Amino acid sequence: MPLDDVVISRAIIERFTQKLLDHLECDVAIVGGGPAGLTAGYYLAKHNHKVVLLERKLSIGGGMWGGGIMFNEIVVQEEGRAILEELGVATLRFRDDYYTADAIEAVSTICSQAVKAGTRIFNLIDVEDVMLTEKQVTGLVINWSSVTLAGLHVDPVTMRARFVVDATGHVAEVAQIIARKSGARLDTSSGGVVGERPMHAEIGERMILENTREFFPGVYAAGMCANAVFGAPRMGPIFGGMLMSGRRVAELIAARL
Ligand SMILES: Cc1cc2nc3c(=O)[nH]c(=O)nc-3n(C[C@H](O)[C@H](O)[C@H](O)COP(=O)(O)OP(=O)(O)OC[C@H]3O[C@@H](n4cnc5c(N)ncnc54)[C@H](O)[C@@H]3O)c2cc1C
Repeated sequence: MPLDDVVISRAIIERFTQKLLDHLECDVAIVGGGPAGLTAGYYLAKHNHKVVLLERKLSIGGGMWGGGIMFNEIVVQEEGRAILEELGVATLRFRDDYYTADAIEAVSTICSQAVKAGTRIFNLIDVEDVMLTEKQVTGLVINWSSVTLAGLHVDPVTMRARFVVDATGHVAEVAQIIARKSGARLDTSSGGVVGERPMHAEIGERMILENTREFFPGVYAAGMCANAVFGAPRMGPIFGGMLMSGRRVAELIAARL
C-alpha cells in the first residue's frame, strides 16, 4: 500500500494527544529529566504509580551526558554502583570505592528503564508555574519550551499531580517559582531557596540524601536541586548522589501514595 502523508500526520497527532490527555492527572509529576528525575521515575513507575516526567530540552539526561569537563565518563561510589547495576549499566572499578561508567550508556539505559517501567516522558515542555491551593501544590503549569524561548504570548495549560518532584538541578526552578510567586515560606532555614555551597564531594554526597525531602506541601526536592534548596555543598562530577536521591524521593513519595 502506498504511504499516505496525511495518515502519518494523523497517527502522530492522535497518539500524542491521547498520551497527553491520559496523563493530565497523575500520581507524581517530576520536573527535570536529569539522572535524579529519571531514577525517581524508574522507581515510582516500577511500583505502579502513575508518573509523568517533564523536560524542557529536546534530549533527556540533563548534565549526565558530559561526565566531567565533557569527558563522557561518570564516577560513582559503591551505593551508586549498585543502582547502576540494577538498572543494567555496566560499571568498572577504578580503585577502592570508586567506579566508573560510560555516560552515554548510563543516560540511555536509565532513560530506557524509566520508560519501560511506565514513566511517561514529555520533552520540550517547560514548567513555568505551579497550581497552588491555600494548603499545597496540586499540579503544574506547562507550556512548550519553544513558546518560552520565542517569548510568544501564548497561555499555558495545567496538569494535576498528587506530588511534584523538583529535579531541575542547580537552578531549583520549581522551588524558586513557589518562593517568588506565592510569597509562602519553604521548609528551609531561610524560608526560601538557600543556594548551593562550594564544592565538597564527601559532605555534598552525604547531605543530598538528607536534603531529598518535602520542602513545601506536595513538593519534594531531588538531585542537585536538593542541595541547592537547602544550602549544601555541590559535589563535583560524581553522580552516585543523583541516583541515590532519585531512589530516595521515590521511596518517600511511594510511602504516602
Ligand atoms: C553550573 C553547574 C554546576 C555543576 N556542578 C556540579 C556539581 O557540583 N556536582 C555534580 O555532580 N554535578 C554538577 N554539575 C553537572 C550536573 O548538573 C549534575 O551532576 C547532574 O546532572 C545533576 O543531576 P540532576 O538530575 O539533579 O539535574 P540535571 O542533570 O541538571 O537535570 C535537570 C533537568 O531539568 C530540566 N529543567 C530545568 N528546569 C526545568 C523546567 N522549568 N521545566 C522543565 N525542565 C526543566 C533541565 O533541562 C535538565 O535537563 C553541574 C552543572 C552545572 C550546569
